[in-house]
Amino acid sequence: MLKYDLHCHSTASDGTLSPSLLVEHACRQGVDVLALTDHDVTCGVAEAQAAATGTDVRVVAGVEVSATWNHQLLHIVGLGVNPAAPALINGLEGQRVFRVWRGEEIGRRLEKRGIAGAYAGAAALAGGPAVSRTHFARYLVAQGHARDMAKAFDSYLKRGKPGYVPGQWAGLEDAVAWIRAAGGQAVVAHPARYTLSATRLRQLLSEFKALGGAAVEVISGSQPHGATPALIAYARQFDLRASVGSDYHGPGQGPNELGRMPVLPAGCVPVWEDWAAPAR
Ligand code: AMP
Ligand code: MN
Ligand code: MN
Ligand code: MN
Repeated sequence: MLKYDLHCHSTASDGTLSPSLLVEHACRQGVDVLALTDHDVTCGVAEAQAAATGTDVRVVAGVEVSATWNHQLLHIVGLGVNPAAPALINGLEGQRVFRVWRGEEIGRRLEKRGIAGAYAGAAALAGGPAVSRTHFARYLVAQGHARDMAKAFDSYLKRGKPGYVPGQWAGLEDAVAWIRAAGGQAVVAHPARYTLSATRLRQLLSEFKALGGAAVEVISGSQPHGATPALIAYARQFDLRASVGSDYHGPGQGPNELGRMPVLPAGCVPVWEDWAAPAR
């Protein structure tokens, strides 16, 4: 049986391993099929695919699109996207424009709290086009403003805190449309992390399916594995396929290890059901 890990991050967004080192790590972890799903960018995919040439790992081109749905921030993973598709390129460009403005705004708000230079510091840690709250958190920890990443989010960056700046992400319909226009499958990432009521989650999955969404992550390193049975039941109810991803961000970045997840239980259709078998 092949081992799939269809959600992880590189230095192209807020991971700490370069795409090449991530693929090397996937080899060590015995991952057969790896999707690189950086936040709102696909610029790490080519390096990852090049690094996978001649190895046993197959790299699927992916992305994790930040989206809003009824004032709720959601993450929609795209799998098997063509990074050269104009609709996806244009859509992600808008996301990056917002990310830059938001980063500067987070910097201004932290400055009012007596923390100077946070945007420059976060951008230097990012090194790529997608400055993320994760980079702000790393900067805040490095500067001694927070004990650890969790505390940095709790004190400064999560919703309701000074460094939380809402707005301007893609709508759910945009995120799904860009992914589909690029030939990909849209997947609701870590649905149990949003703390939606059962009614709202059903509403989300019903709308997502109607928009042409393909799957939900029923197993994710970003949500308790106890959530899986209910998510499998929802996947069946809304005729969605099932995906599996660690949401790995690098060594020591949270508890999730690449490729180390429970196998997909019976009773759901894997998102990879119709994929061509990896070439050997
Ligand atoms: P952004 O897309 O810039 O808003 O950043 C979101 C990212 O921050 C997520 O993908 C996670 O990697 C990270 N993140 C969110 N909440 C937390 C938290 N409480 N602790 C650590 N990392 C978090
Ligand atoms: Mn992240
Ligand atoms: Mn996410
Ligand atoms: Mn992620």
